[in-house]
Amino acid sequence: DVFLETRELTKVYLDGTEALKKISLTFKQGELVSIIGPSGAGKSTFLRSINCLNKPTSGEVLFQNQNITRANGKKLRLIRRQIGMVFQDFNLIKRSSTIRNVLHGRLGYMSSLKGGIGRFSEYDVHEGLAILKRVGLEDHAFKRADELSGGQQQRVGIARAIAQKPSLILADEPIASLDPSSSNNVMNYLKKISEEDGITTIVNLHQVDFAKHFAHRIIGIKAGEVVFDGRPNELSNLM
Ligand code: ADP
Ligand code: ADP
Repeated sequence: DVFLETRELTKVYLDGTEALKKISLTFKQGELVSIIGPSGAGKSTFLRSINCLNKPTSGEVLFQNQNITRANGKKLRLIRRQIGMVFQDFNLIKRSSTIRNVLHGRLGYMSSLKGGIGRFSEYDVHEGLAILKRVGLEDHAFKRADELSGGQQQRVGIARAIAQKPSLILADEPIASLDPSSSNNVMNYLKKISEEDGITTIVNLHQVDFAKHFAHRIIGIKAGEVVFDGRPNELSNLM
């Protein structure tokens, strides 16, 4: 039951940097996986290849039995709708309300950037509040996004991702700009939602201790190659 698979995924940037070297990995439905490794290891390139933000040089990405490696147009939009993204710098529309940011998520991240979807119905607001409740932010629904703390903004980021009803969540360094207590909080919500909804979640982290604490599985990447793939308790001091 392979949910997501990469086969010999390779990315060489135009300047010759080999960011990924034949990465072959499989992911099961509902897994919470953390990718760890030093800065420049290729973590971000890997995540961006999965949702086709980045075209690999060679190799394949298979998502729910479809080869999506070079998807474009309508097929790409359909795939992206199933993939919720969570970013290091939150990528919220700062001057919009929290609930508006969340409801934009239903359209998928790419279309949300275009903005302007008019007023929401009562049903939309009800749904948005229910989603915000899941990340403990129902009381902040009508505040401007930029009035919230960093940790709260990232929880809006998670709410926006789940509003899309994704089967996969990709989070690229979601806690890199947060203090330890907010980081813990954000990781707890990511884990809770991944487990409750059975959403496969792949989280890039450079903090090994957080990965050990929250993930079901850890993949270590160094210089574009997989150097570890196993349970958190199997991770030696090698990483
Ligand atoms: P990480 O997320 O682990 O920090 P990245 O995937 O961002 O790693 O980067 C992997 C390697 O690819 C690094 O050497 C980085 O400098 C390089 N790289 C990333 N993006 C580009 C780009 N657009 N052009 C050239 N090199 C890049
Ligand atoms: P707008 O820019 O359209 O006013 P908001 O982001 O402030 O958007 O609100 C989003 C939606 O929630 C709108 O449809 C608005 O009518 C509704 N709304 C705003 N404030 C409240 C509130 N306190 N209780 C219930 N619904 C609200």
